Amino acid sequence: MIARSGLSFGKIVEGDAMPVATRDELNVYDSAEARFEIAADKLGLEQGIYRYLKYPEREITVYIPVSLDNGLIEVFTGYRVLHSTVRGPGKGGIRFAPDVSLDEVRALAAWMTWKCAVVNIPFGGAKGGVICDPGKLSKSELERVTRRYTASLADWFGPERDIPAPDIGTNEQTMAWVMDTYAMHVRQATTAVVTGKPLDLGGSQGRREATGRGLMICCNKAIEKLRIKRGECRVIVQGFGNVGSQASLLMHEAGYKIIGISDVHGGLYNEKGIDIAKLYEWVYGLRKPLPEFPEGGERTNSRDILYRPCEILLPAATENQITSENAHRLNCKILCEGANGPTTSYADKTIEEKGIFIVPDILANAGGVTVSYFEWVQDRQGFFWRESEVNDRLQDVMEHSFDQVVRYAEAHRVNNRIAAYIMAIDRVARALKLRGFYA
Ligand code: NAD
Repeated sequence: MIARSGLSFGKIVEGDAMPVATRDELNVYDSAEARFEIAADKLGLEQGIYRYLKYPEREITVYIPVSLDNGLIEVFTGYRVLHSTVRGPGKGGIRFAPDVSLDEVRALAAWMTWKCAVVNIPFGGAKGGVICDPGKLSKSELERVTRRYTASLADWFGPERDIPAPDIGTNEQTMAWVMDTYAMHVRQATTAVVTGKPLDLGGSQGRREATGRGLMICCNKAIEKLRIKRGECRVIVQGFGNVGSQASLLMHEAGYKIIGISDVHGGLYNEKGIDIAKLYEWVYGLRKPLPEFPEGGERTNSRDILYRPCEILLPAATENQITSENAHRLNCKILCEGANGPTTSYADKTIEEKGIFIVPDILANAGGVTVSYFEWVQDRQGFFWRESEVNDRLQDVMEHSFDQVVRYAEAHRVNNRIAAYIMAIDRVARALKLRGFYA
């Protein structure tokens, strides 16, 4: 666990799955803010609008008393940050992890605002989290944490207010409990209050794969731009959870060569390529540790996989993996960010100097929230789409957004990350000006 307090303690010692950098650099809120500042400055954002968009609309802390299976009562801390409702209701996942902090949730909420604006869907940005270790709680304890968290926030959630979704440590089952708890409080079935639900409860076809599929669509566009042939394209993926497993499965099927993969337990490297479908069965079917996959090749640690030569590096695990201290070791042509905030702002300069083509998180992993938007639309219509329809619409949104960001970057001589931020901030600022300021 990375303590976010004690910023003056200096360097974190490099361990297997720990980020390398100074603690100052690892504050994700500062990282998010640094990019916002650069983009706002380049955009010439007026002072008032700048101030409005810099701060969240609301931050809520809840203390969640829960009876554990052993009869004792534990009190968990939870957060919900609503960054912006300028373009529509708040949208953002709920994270269950031991190192959740208000700063992290605040950064993730702001990223959601920019992400929804980059892909031009009518949502604002929000995020939630509970400090807990889901691996150490039983299913019924997790259900009680989820229900009490949702009940505490029931007045703030709603299809037109703030719509949660899954993130690290939460899944379709968690979303089903959120939906049920909310429905009990408002006394009517309300499927559109949460996305990423099971299909049987108003979930959308294609939602589980959506973030991974969106990443693949961005990679397809990036290799086309750099004239790299798919069959010759070596890919390394960090993280084998929802995002990393779905992205690598789809890319493996599509003819990319996945030569490296890791999760929190360690990594695998195989120049000949790893059979991801078999690995998926090993990890999720047989419930075996990823690094012990018999056909996986050389074993590495979770982070060293990032430094192996490849065409596409796809960090899809967690924040702060690429920092000022290790960015010079990257050996890829394309950095496609599946995780939120995998690269600190301090690493941006090195990545630019190395000429790496970056597909920034607020564009690359926006496939998830885009299909969440489709799920919300379907729930509200009560009319559900075929999977091919969902995937076609997703492809359309992702390709169009990718083209817009890259075109903007080229026209204004900024990198893709800053281009994405500028486009997003500009869209939110325009909506804000149209709405005006209510006294
Ligand atoms: P998850 O909990 O399903 O999976 C996380 C994976 O990362 C696991 O395989 C875990 O073992 C691995 N991991 C954790 N720490 C690691 C480390 N230090 N080194 C290597 N592997 C490590 O979470 P997820 O839903 O796949 O989310 C992953 C990232 O993608 C997060 O940053 C999340 O915010 C972001 N994201 C998720 C979605 C979504 O739809 N789930 C959408 C957009 C962005």
